Amino acid sequence: MDTLTDTANQIAAATAELKADNDKAECQECKYIREKYHGFGPSHDGSRGCESGSIASGGNNAHCTCDTCF
Ligand SMILES: [Zn+2]
Ligand SMILES: [Zn+2]
Repeated sequence: MDTLTDTANQIAAATAELKADNDKAECQECKYIREKYHGFGPSHDGSRGCESGSIASGGNNAHCTCDTCF
């Protein structure tokens, strides 16, 4: 058994697994918007100029639908 190749394969497998985890962690609401409204919906981070607390402006409000964000 070639140990170096084996290690490389393990790293490749771990990377693929990590990528799958990232896909799973995708925001469900963003996914819903993309599938249901073909991507036309409030963005996850919103706008930086938002005054309603969008993520981009430093708040916690994802998918803000204020006039600035949407
Ligand atoms: Zn989202
Ligand atoms: Zn907003």
